[in-house]
Amino acid sequence: MQTPVYLDYHATTPVDPRVCERMLPYFGPKFGNAASRTHRFGWEAEKAVEKARRQVAALIGAEARDIIFTSGATESNNLALKGVFEACRNRGKHLVTMTTEHQAVLDPIRHLERQGAHATLLAPCPDGRIDLDALREAIQPQTLLVSVMAANNEIGVLQPLDEIGAICRERGVLFHSDAAQALGKAAAQVEDQNIDLMSLTAHKIYGPKGVGALYLRPKARSLLAAQIDGGGHEGGYRSGTLNVPAIVGFGAACAICAEEMRAESVRVGRLRDRLERRLLSELDGITRNGPREGRLPGNLNLTFAGVDASALLMGLPELALSTGSACSSAIAGPSHVLLALGLSHESARSSIRFGLGRYTTGEEVDFAASRIIEVVQKLRGLSPVPARA
Ligand SMILES: *Cc1c(COP(=O)(O)O)cnc(C)c1O
Repeated sequence: MQTPVYLDYHATTPVDPRVCERMLPYFGPKFGNAASRTHRFGWEAEKAVEKARRQVAALIGAEARDIIFTSGATESNNLALKGVFEACRNRGKHLVTMTTEHQAVLDPIRHLERQGAHATLLAPCPDGRIDLDALREAIQPQTLLVSVMAANNEIGVLQPLDEIGAICRERGVLFHSDAAQALGKAAAQVEDQNIDLMSLTAHKIYGPKGVGALYLRPKARSLLAAQIDGGGHEGGYRSGTLNVPAIVGFGAACAICAEEMRAESVRVGRLRDRLERRLLSELDGITRNGPREGRLPGNLNLTFAGVDASALLMGLPELALSTGSACSSAIAGPSHVLLALGLSHESARSSIRFGLGRYTTGEEVDFAASRIIEVVQKLRGLSPVPARA
């Protein structure tokens, strides 16, 4: 076993060696520009991109022509939210989302509020799930779009996309979902769930960084304005020369997930349960954030009462863990997701996110559990405040 043990799969994942192998020729002899129509180099690149497009689409139950390649989920969220607002602002200016969304949704919405949008940010139920009655109440005649993530990147909660999609269809509003965390782990199907726009990224599913996609339902095509103009690539929605090697890798990563995600979810879920059981049985004052059922198989988010999470991480250099979203770890302060669940600032600062994945082993989980138990006990021994549940 190598240390540090990687337990931060929500932040990013290593590239699967099979994915890497598929990408390599496109850094070498198959270097063509997929938009070059006059020679073999271009045709070869275009063919590879179109295969990847089918592989990505297949994983979400979509058609290849409805996939727009982007640089990742952040760009896809920006394109979806700003693009819909720009194209539809004459029809209404209201957007609905949740307080527990990723910054890559919250920040574009804040940007749009400065441009005249009105946003309703719904608070979650205590387990992190959306309150469907509150959603129904929030939708107004001026509402353009509802944006709810498929799975949360901190507490792993899976949102009831079927129900949200049905409500959006009934009320005639667009439904966007950031599925960066759910892709390849939990079923996210654009048809069953009536999703009009869905943001995807490769680097959370063992593909390369810097590539992702936006699914766009055909009926929503006229409701989205491009945010990057140029040569008219990707149906005019996202100009710029395609990153062929990365797109090939994204497709390969999706194909592997389609094959293996069922078995992998079971295996990773068992390892997560084993880690959770050991920590909960051998330590007092531990609470889980998020629901027991209906969360990502590799996710565990725990509050260690009376323990400062940064002190705990400092005491565990042999584990690669985090206190929450990597994207906001530059910003000091407790997680906005945990605060939205009703945790106090102190509890939020005592919380750790565990992310298990494809390469996590039982040996690593047992090692991590033992080390965490030791360090928590040591820190609590030093602390003047007794541990409270
Ligand atoms: C990682 C993540 C993002 C950002 O994706 P990038 O491809 O890194 O831009 C957005 N939303 C969620 C839920 C994520 O987990």
